[in-house]
Amino acid sequence: MSEEAREKPSNFIRDIILEHNRTGRFGGRVVTRFPPEPNGYLHIGHAKAICIDFGMAQEFGGRCHLRFDDTNPTKESQEYVDAIMRDVRWLGFDWGPHLYHASDYFEQLYAWAVQLIKAGKAYVDELTAEEMREHRGTLTEGGRESPHRSRPAEESLDLLERMRRGEFEEGAKTLRARIDMTSGNLNLRDPVMYRIRKAPHQRTGDAWCIYPMYDWAHGQSDSIEGVTHSICTLEYEDHRPLYDWYLDQLGVHHPQQIEFARLNLSHTVMSKRKLLELVNAGLVTGWDDPRMPTLAGLRRRGYTPEAIRDFCERIGVAKADNLVQVALLEHCLREDLNRRAERRMAVLRPLRLVVENYPEGKVEELPAINNPEDPSAGSRRVPWSRVLYIEQDDFRDPPPPKYFRLSPGAEVRLRYAYIVRCTGVTRAADGTVAEVRCEYDPASRGGDSGGRRVKGTLHWVSASHSIGAEARLYDTLFTAPRPDEAEEWKSVLNPKSLEVLRSCRVEPALAGAPAEARFQFERQGYFCVDARDSRPGALVFNRAVGLRDTWAKIEKGGG
Ligand code: ATP
Ligand code: MG
Repeated sequence: MSEEAREKPSNFIRDIILEHNRTGRFGGRVVTRFPPEPNGYLHIGHAKAICIDFGMAQEFGGRCHLRFDDTNPTKESQEYVDAIMRDVRWLGFDWGPHLYHASDYFEQLYAWAVQLIKAGKAYVDELTAEEMREHRGTLTEGGRESPHRSRPAEESLDLLERMRRGEFEEGAKTLRARIDMTSGNLNLRDPVMYRIRKAPHQRTGDAWCIYPMYDWAHGQSDSIEGVTHSICTLEYEDHRPLYDWYLDQLGVHHPQQIEFARLNLSHTVMSKRKLLELVNAGLVTGWDDPRMPTLAGLRRRGYTPEAIRDFCERIGVAKADNLVQVALLEHCLREDLNRRAERRMAVLRPLRLVVENYPEGKVEELPAINNPEDPSAGSRRVPWSRVLYIEQDDFRDPPPPKYFRLSPGAEVRLRYAYIVRCTGVTRAADGTVAEVRCEYDPASRGGDSGGRRVKGTLHWVSASHSIGAEARLYDTLFTAPRPDEAEEWKSVLNPKSLEVLRSCRVEPALAGAPAEARFQFERQGYFCVDARDSRPGALVFNRAVGLRDTWAKIEKGGG
């Protein structure tokens, strides 16, 4: 056991590996793999699997393969393959030279299918999908054997070869394993191994028109690669006896499959089918929409790989299904960015503030700390002048009770600058506040109140020095914590999941901010330069999370 393994919190997968290493089951080797099907983008649930697969290999000095389970050409594409590789790397993991594809094994899988037919363990069937369903039986009722089940091996061999040559239409024939139509496990009732699909494959092109079923390809792919610990989610527990059966019949290397509970996150959906539907229906702007639970979406939103890995560590590894609050994910990001993100001032909904006793044309460059959590981040200078912008919310006339911001006669501190007292407002024809007027106290530079009580501190920017920007504020994509349980999952989409503010004013230090740069906008939250739409001169910021930590409250409340 390595030092690292000893320090980490326990999880049952680690315990199983430790036990194997103790008994010498795999000669101390640990080979894992992350096996995505390239039929969509990776999401936060996949991040959990990636952290476990790569994490266990790292911890035990083994290796983790990236293998594309590309057995269904009609749903898969190179775009997804590329996105998956980008996202695994971004998350901080490296498969080194161990990039594989189930399609690399098509020839070997075919040879093994022939071997099973010869051994009387597989046969070509001609039932339609519909008939096959009827024959299959139910959980309480055994299935019925197909009339083709007992056809001679030579006949099946000939038919399989002709299937491969493209002589039959899609759906006309399948290759099935001959196991047990009365098994209590439905997966063992003569599962289909090959189906005809006259579709080109993104890697093998037109070489094949029969494709292996996932269940036929998966375990053998693990075996070919010498995987020792085949870690997967609970829904494959019922498939394990089938994988075991195939491997035993073939007499090849037999990995240990270990199942864990998949991550369910509140206020979102995680099925790739549903995510694809959101994309195709234009309900989001794409797989990388910052409201999506995809890694591409989270990255664009402003999430860091460190925050996501920390989240995966904290949720742990267990066998019991549960729902993790999205507030925990947000909490992890807040903690990370609080340490690392530089502070800036940005006014999202600007209101003019005129400092009447400050000379026109005069400018001061006031020092501002970049990150109070990180002295090495240093400081910058923020221009101050006679006309400023503050947040519309930061002025009220008349002020409600306990309002410590600006109102006629009240004093506030402008961060890093001066204390100002409101002297009046200018109203537009319709009565709305067009401009707030104030006087500053020259002796209060840096925010020194000279002993008097000034409760409120506001952020601000200089009107003529600030630059325009767009801010996109996000809420959860769904209003319901478990959209999958709603009668119609799309009916609980959150109509207010995106608010766009187009006339924000941000301090000039943000002018050259590169794509994906992250900042804390004081009092507003953590923001990230949008990687798709932001341009120099037309900055777009995504709010990753607000500053208020709802997780701490949930934890305290026990719910
Ligand atoms: P689908 O959404 O179509 O059912 P999938 O999410 O299982 O597919 P795969 O590409 O097969 O997609 O997933 C790759 C790996 O990620 C699998 O080992 C799977 O068990 C794991 N995985 C998928 N979703 C989750 C999740 N929510 N939590 C943890 N692991 C997951
Ligand atoms: Mg799957």
